[in-house]
Amino acid sequence: MTTGNAPYVARDLAHVWHPCTQMKDHEQHLPLIPIRRGQGVWLEDYSGRRYLDAISSWWVNLFGHANPRINAAVREQLDSLEQVILAGFTHEPVIDLSEALVAIAPEGLTRCFYADNGSAAVEVAVKMSFHYWRNVGRQAKRRFITLSNSYHGETLGALAVGNVELYKEIYQPLLMDVITVPSPDCYEREAGESWAEHSRRKFAHMEATLAPHAHEVAAVIVEPLVQCAGTMRMYDPVYLELLRDACNRYEVHLIADEIAVGFGRTGTMFACEQAGIRPDFMCLSKGLTAGYLPLSTVMTTERVYAAFYDEYEKLNAFLHSHSFTGNPLACAVARASLRIFRDDNILERNRALAAHMGTRARELEDHPHVAEVRQRGMIVAIELVKDKATRAPYPWQERRGLVIYRHGIERGVLLRPVGNVVYFMPPYVITPDEIDLMVDVAREGIELATCD
Ligand SMILES: *Cc1c(COP(=O)(O)O)cnc(C)c1O
Repeated sequence: MTTGNAPYVARDLAHVWHPCTQMKDHEQHLPLIPIRRGQGVWLEDYSGRRYLDAISSWWVNLFGHANPRINAAVREQLDSLEQVILAGFTHEPVIDLSEALVAIAPEGLTRCFYADNGSAAVEVAVKMSFHYWRNVGRQAKRRFITLSNSYHGETLGALAVGNVELYKEIYQPLLMDVITVPSPDCYEREAGESWAEHSRRKFAHMEATLAPHAHEVAAVIVEPLVQCAGTMRMYDPVYLELLRDACNRYEVHLIADEIAVGFGRTGTMFACEQAGIRPDFMCLSKGLTAGYLPLSTVMTTERVYAAFYDEYEKLNAFLHSHSFTGNPLACAVARASLRIFRDDNILERNRALAAHMGTRARELEDHPHVAEVRQRGMIVAIELVKDKATRAPYPWQERRGLVIYRHGIERGVLLRPVGNVVYFMPPYVITPDEIDLMVDVAREGIELATCD
């Protein structure tokens, strides 16, 4: 028995204001889709139609919807403790999770500070870095260096250290002043230049900025290897190696925002591993709870921790909190998710899935409007252009991505292009057949969107 979608759509549009949406689009451009249930990679609406979740519900889901093992972990935790204040009190899930995270994180990240979403984690890292320098007597170090095309969230501090114009420009008067350095984005590499050569060459900008500014800079913040919201632009690990080295030389913190790329998306548990580096702060969220519940953490070093550890009267403590910091249900889910990684050998299994996804997606390389198919692990992106020879992009006003989105919805695949870039970032429980469907539907959508 299905009621159909219509009643839910009407009731929703009467009161719900949706995220990142021009609500007027729901009048004609965008069908609003009420979801009744999820199962594995599939979402099902109230008319019984199913959609393959090719974007992991905004990059959060890892092991499918309604995963039995994670559901069991939620139920078990629910029967003992749903929430408790984390100041002055603690609980087993947050202790277990912290131990488990420290065990798998780059060596030396031994302290976990919890918040409840990605932007809040970025705020924490920014405040902690600034506060660290103040606590050690370096008050001048209060600025941040960010990369062009970077994204770190929507709250004012996170927005300030990010760089996606569409989200940022309007709020500029409210934002702190940051120093922006050109991204190592390898889409911009010269003909014949390797990713590593390009990334290395781009690092000269960072070096040239750190040299005169280091005395006033607290930290450099980056998304390791993939600038996801910035249309899945990618760069070579060598950039992170050079950056780690420069941050050491200039005494500047390195904040790795692994909110999107963490937990296996780039092929390794954390993207930083591919450069063999340890950041001073690592922000985690999204996949942290396998896409189940809001939770984030900032992992940092003993050195940072020690700079805040003092007599109360010195007022050196990090007096930051969120009501749901370290929520037990969310921590229990995160712990269950890490068990799945280990027990099912997920990173190893993902290699085969990633290879298949890459092979299928690269079939599109010859398409007259595809400038590039790029991949890092379980993230694959297809860059559409108006003119392949000059790489002139389609004007954003044409909203070509919307054509692909709508085609996907019609064919039962949730694709959500960012600008003129179609990408796949599916849950790890996707099968090779489902990958084929996902890529086939994307290809059809691309044909439709580029046929004039
Ligand atoms: C999504 C994202 C954030 C923000 O996380 P929210 O939970 O949406 O606030 C920050 N940084 C990166 C790299 C992200 O992809």
